[in-house]
Amino acid sequence: MKKTVLGWLFAVVLVYVPGAGAAPDGQAPPWKAGAASAVITPQRPLPMAGYAGRKEPAEGAAQELFAKALAIEDQDGNRVVFLTMDLIGVIGRLRTTVAEQVQQKYQLPPHALVMNASHTHCGPAYGRDEAKDYFDSLAAKLVELVGTSLERLEPASLAYCLARCGFAMNRRTPTESGYQNHPNPDGPVDHTVPVLRVAAAGGELRAVLFGYACHNTTMGFRQWLGDYAGYAQEYFEKDHAGTVALFLMGCGADQNPYPRSQIEYAQKHGRSLATAIEAALETGQKTPRHQRPLAGPLRCALETVDLESATPNRPDFPYPVQVVRFGNDLSIIALGNEVVVDYALRLKRELAEPSGPAIWVAGYSNTYDDYIPSKRVLEEGGYEAKCCPWKATLEERIVGKVHELYGRPAAAPPAAPAEGKQ
Ligand SMILES: [Zn+2]
Repeated sequence: MKKTVLGWLFAVVLVYVPGAGAAPDGQAPPWKAGAASAVITPQRPLPMAGYAGRKEPAEGAAQELFAKALAIEDQDGNRVVFLTMDLIGVIGRLRTTVAEQVQQKYQLPPHALVMNASHTHCGPAYGRDEAKDYFDSLAAKLVELVGTSLERLEPASLAYCLARCGFAMNRRTPTESGYQNHPNPDGPVDHTVPVLRVAAAGGELRAVLFGYACHNTTMGFRQWLGDYAGYAQEYFEKDHAGTVALFLMGCGADQNPYPRSQIEYAQKHGRSLATAIEAALETGQKTPRHQRPLAGPLRCALETVDLESATPNRPDFPYPVQVVRFGNDLSIIALGNEVVVDYALRLKRELAEPSGPAIWVAGYSNTYDDYIPSKRVLEEGGYEAKCCPWKATLEERIVGKVHELYGRPAAAPPAAPAEGKQ
């Protein structure tokens, strides 16, 4: 593949935060990083994913859909690639296809590949038979995108920072007839906007990986749209030409953006989120105080834990749990399926140590099948509990696996995963 440094060449000085990105004089930055993006908007009418009642195919694009890749390498050559997509989810077939080819072509093992979907409900139902041509071209494009991000690896500094953004609202409202899908301003939320800041050796901003825990469902019309997450990325990239903004969907299964159902709200939420990234970066501050520079080593682990179904004869579900640890500074935990906010709140609470890594929990990663309620949500009932009847053991199993992997990567690199177990 032809190496193109176009993205980096455009990364003229846009956001310069003295002291937060540049390496000390005479020292090489501790990391290498490379980012790339590709348009994945379907070029023909396809069925849409997300709302069962919407039977007709999309009529066109209100916004392009993107896939983006961020490759990071530490001083010892350990690598991770974040692959984010404006899609409903990462179905197992896509994960397997892309991970296998990425390993073959670039020797990047599956435990070092994080695939995350924004959960837009205005993207293609790409797993259906009638979308096979799109699926094949999508998978090929994603593999190529990972390769491009790896080709673009160049000296970089990484920092973690965060801000908050308030449009996500809990959507589980207790009523006399049980929990209804309705905005609940008193329900639990996670308004954190975690940001991984990637800067060139001279401190110029090159990429941001940012997260938010909220259904990406301001809209449900018949046009392709990245929704609030798409607008947040679009606005940030426009405001910082040459940078790549990647969205890592959080544990927003029981969170909705409000208000919703008008495109202007998707745009406003996108603007709010893009502004929160700026707040996290402390844009305009002469002396930033909240940028946490990341040191290595980089460690990745990915394993499955079996979740028990409450439905007779339904087999256990091999649920993927992934941990990406940047030394003692940041751990990104990527959970599969639609995860309710309780997991992020609990894991951040349990794993937090005064001098330990910042904890960032993503959902919608590496697989997309069903909701993952917490024990509380499962017992309360309602939409997120009914979709797939799990046994109440699921929360402890998932949290236990996170603790296991979280403790392991700091000590030693994980062995390559066994066949069939990523
Ligand atoms: Zn959903």
